[in-house]
Amino acid sequence: MANPNCPKCHGKGFFKKQDGSVTTCFDCLMSGDMDQHDENLKDADIKI
Ligand SMILES: [Zn+2]
Repeated sequence: MANPNCPKCHGKGFFKKQDGSVTTCFDCLMSGDMDQHDENLKDADIKI
């Protein structure tokens, strides 16, 4: 699970940027708490 107290993604592990694209939350990614079964993310426009 991502950090539910994360100010960026609020525990979702990703968030929508101001330009409307969805990006992975690196704060949670680096903390190693990312949930791997994020099927719905595959259709999203993820820019690493
Ligand atoms: Zn986060």
